[in-house]
Amino acid sequence: MPWAKQTWSTGRYDRGVRAPLITITCDCGASVEVPYAERWKCGACGKTWDTGQIPHADYDALLQGVRRYRLLVLGPPLVLAAILVPLAAVKGLQFAFLLFVFLMAYALLVVPQLRRRASKRMRDSTKSWKLRPE
Ligand SMILES: [Zn+2]
Repeated sequence: MPWAKQTWSTGRYDRGVRAPLITITCDCGASVEVPYAERWKCGACGKTWDTGQIPHADYDALLQGVRRYRLLVLGPPLVLAAILVPLAAVKGLQFAFLLFVFLMAYALLVVPQLRRRASKRMRDSTKSWKLRPE
């Protein structure tokens, strides 16, 4: 299906966000990660799987989740850095120290929770995806 590949490689969805791969587990137990709308032929049993069977809307929702997660992880630290770095340069190093403390706390306390929540949401939304071999 060349049309599907075309759509995805022209960058409609990129803007720096790498599309998450889809894990296919074959009936025979073999497992592989492939991009959306790609086909994969199992080397062990010869069945062909097509991730293009997943509805576009479902995959879009997944991408939205990934994007929201990245925004939540990167947004607040970047905003704070934009405020505190100039302050540190003008007013003094205590602001750089403040930024450092915030970044550490954010990375250790907030990001793990965001990651847990995002991956749970991803698991839930992909649970209904059932591919058929061709
Ligand atoms: Zn197989």
